[in-house]
Amino acid sequence: MPEETVMADEHRPIERGLEAASRTYLFYDARDIALYVFSLAIVWGGAWLAFASAWSQALFTIALLYLTVVFILKRGARPDWSTLPVIAHGLLAYPGRVIRTLRTWKPVRPVCVFGVAMVAELCAKRYLTSDSLLLRPFPYLNVFFVTFMGITTFRTAILIAHLQRAAHVRDVLESSPWKHQMRGLGVTNHILQAYVTGLISHVCYLIPALIFWRLTAPTYAREAVLLLDAVLVLGFRIVRQGFPTALQQTLVRVEVIDALTSAHTADHKSRFNFAVLHGHHHDAIPSALMAAGESGFVESIDRGISYLTFLGSAIWTLCINALMTAANMVGHQYIPGVYPYSKYTVQTKLHHVVHHYGSLRPLGLGGLPSYVADVRDGYDPTNGKVRWFLEVAAKHGEADPATAEEFVRI
Ligand SMILES: [Zn+2]
Ligand SMILES: [Zn+2]
Repeated sequence: MPEETVMADEHRPIERGLEAASRTYLFYDARDIALYVFSLAIVWGGAWLAFASAWSQALFTIALLYLTVVFILKRGARPDWSTLPVIAHGLLAYPGRVIRTLRTWKPVRPVCVFGVAMVAELCAKRYLTSDSLLLRPFPYLNVFFVTFMGITTFRTAILIAHLQRAAHVRDVLESSPWKHQMRGLGVTNHILQAYVTGLISHVCYLIPALIFWRLTAPTYAREAVLLLDAVLVLGFRIVRQGFPTALQQTLVRVEVIDALTSAHTADHKSRFNFAVLHGHHHDAIPSALMAAGESGFVESIDRGISYLTFLGSAIWTLCINALMTAANMVGHQYIPGVYPYSKYTVQTKLHHVVHHYGSLRPLGLGGLPSYVADVRDGYDPTNGKVRWFLEVAAKHGEADPATAEEFVRI
């Protein structure tokens, strides 16, 4: 069996102290409890800073406590004194990660546009009367609420479909390479854990922007300049490339895929990066329910920081994020036979399915073109997990022999 198809638990060595480059992390274990709780504490702190209302803080607290209980039921809890040096090392290394990401995508333009918007806001304050619409606070929380509830409605429809077909979900997963991850929890709680994971991941990406907007109180003047810039850029793209390509370029920014893949590789090679940043994305069942931005909770916050989401238009950032989240959810339905089904995964040749079933590779996060490097580094596109997934998808009418044949060609 090639290395990439070995079950994840077999990959994980029992190690002490700081991580070594050759080690691979794919699932949590009992020793990670303190790192996991540390990651949830970061999320709780971020939500506390982002939202003023007591009810949203209470909801976050309940959701995070639920996930802690689920972790203990699934993985157990064992003390590990290496946790403190792992956290210290991870925190010291974190600024380097942000700087590397910023160097990769060189955000000169968004910073300049934000500078122009701030100048416009200052001019408006200088020359307009205080009752002017342009000087009123922009209600970014209302936009957040509308977009978040839109995606949450979609996520809840998927939740209902999974609960209605809970026995099917259990049967597929127990016949899959994921069966070892089903221990300690009934299928209903696995489904609920995935739902809560998706909700929190969705919010986490937006936490840096929500904190920034809460602290700087954007006006309609600032929002108008930032939104106008985003619309003009999309307009130019449509003129040059046509609507479908322009929209795709806006949703999937090709220039950052290498940086995302590189960070993703680091996430699976470092205990801190996996347990604190990325692991939540792999801890829930491989279903659309848990997906948001291809990232764990703290990693989502990291993306919000490293990609300077807070400098953009609130309307644009929140609407594009909603579209990306919906697309990411559909692209993570790896349990065939239940809504929103796996046809999209099969048709677009998303080998990422294998990564969620416990294989390190493919690590590429840009779909088909990004798997070429994985194949070069030893990924076998015809591996056992791919064949199992295609068989189950075919059984439920979500893959035919021709698309299955195409799927394994990279
Ligand atoms: Zn991963
Ligand atoms: Zn994923």
